[in-house]
Amino acid sequence: MAAPFRLYNTLSRTVEDFVPLQPGRVGLYVCGMTVYDRCHVGHARAMVIFDTFVRYLRHRGWAVEFVRNFTDVDDKIINRANELGEDPIALSKRYIDAFHEDADAMGLLRPDHEPKVSESIEDILALTQELIDRGHAYVADGSVWFAVETFGDYGRLSGQKVDELRSADAADGKRSGADFALWKAVKPGEPAWPSPWGPGRPGWHIECSAMAQSRLGSTVDIHGGGLDLVFPHHENEIAQSECGHGGEKYVRYWMHNGLLTMSSGQKMGKSLGNVINVEVALANFPAQTLRLYYLQNHYRSPLPWGEEALPEALAMLSRLYEAKEVAEALGGEGDADQIAREMGPDAEAVLKLGRELPERLHAALDEDFNTSKALGDLFELARAINRFANLKKAKKRGGPVVAPALAAFDLIADATGLLAQPTREFLEEVKTKRLAALGVTREEIEAKLAEREAARVAKDWAAADAVRKELEERQIVVMDKPEGVEWRVKLT
Ligand SMILES: [Zn+2]
Repeated sequence: MAAPFRLYNTLSRTVEDFVPLQPGRVGLYVCGMTVYDRCHVGHARAMVIFDTFVRYLRHRGWAVEFVRNFTDVDDKIINRANELGEDPIALSKRYIDAFHEDADAMGLLRPDHEPKVSESIEDILALTQELIDRGHAYVADGSVWFAVETFGDYGRLSGQKVDELRSADAADGKRSGADFALWKAVKPGEPAWPSPWGPGRPGWHIECSAMAQSRLGSTVDIHGGGLDLVFPHHENEIAQSECGHGGEKYVRYWMHNGLLTMSSGQKMGKSLGNVINVEVALANFPAQTLRLYYLQNHYRSPLPWGEEALPEALAMLSRLYEAKEVAEALGGEGDADQIAREMGPDAEAVLKLGRELPERLHAALDEDFNTSKALGDLFELARAINRFANLKKAKKRGGPVVAPALAAFDLIADATGLLAQPTREFLEEVKTKRLAALGVTREEIEAKLAEREAARVAKDWAAADAVRKELEERQIVVMDKPEGVEWRVKLT
């Protein structure tokens, strides 16, 4: 691909041409979960965005090394474990397993490395010692603090002013309110590891600097995470890594995804009781629904969440799958241009659009990964397919005319994972999951359809129609096709 791939860099606040440090290779580090609870639909946005992003970089021909960590040592984990009377590492292990279950069910690729804090202590100790040796960190009462005033660039990513941070409370031996912990001296009831400064555990930020360095080297091409991590987490990562490496650049492109916003104006939070876990969402909706929901807006934009979010995403997704199914069912052979000329403007339009689409999809994704624009192009294609398929002769002869359109659907599946599930399988999964949500069984529907068939045989059209209406009220749409009677769950 000749055109450059361009990416918004939070550090420069502009869209830049993306050029990896080593030609052909991309090192990507993404901050993962703090594992003390199930993954919810808010967390899942970053998971799906970066999964899709990795797929696209690979589709574009780059060899991507993808690292996403697990924070398995943290205040929240320790508190939860103490509440439950459980060992904190055992508790986080349970939630790592649960996360893998959710991630697999969402159809996410496993990262190449998934380092955990509890298994990275050596790297963390080495980097902390380096920071002390270079005069960027100091020891106080068994804890180690990063001295923010020793790093002149502090605040560049987030725009925070060090002067204002300095006025914060400076407890526990901190010299300045702006300083942050690299190593925390042990407290009762907390897990601890031996260190040159006494037993304790890592502060939160140091883990990502240490893990990124050990897997990807001193300089990372792209560092990703949610917008809520810019400060203090990512600001502190830069300070630790650049000071620990003698000023070498830590991250070349900072990529942050926007957050979910509740349509009610609330935040999503456990204490507010408005959290939907991925596990629950996937019991009611196919995984592709979540992928489309997250990709419909630009990754940097806020994304509204409400009760209607997944039903609407499923309805949108079904329009794409149904158009794909319609196109797959068209037969015939021959020269596409000639057939299209004979069949008229709707045929010529779908042929032209199908051929243009690869370039348009790449152009959208190459410009700061604009999945929203790419989806808009796919919906335009779906409408063109439907218009064309309504033509009388399309069924028998239209196959060659929609072949480029079908290739465009395959391209988007390879480039983003969207529509990667085969059409039939998706439509069946919709039935299974939506029927359960509607409280209707397949047996009930089959019985009703048999009743309708008997009425039709007896030429009692009113009775047959009444059954159709009754099913429709229960959100089941009956379709009479040449191959026989089919039914669907109504989605809009
Ligand atoms: Zn991190």
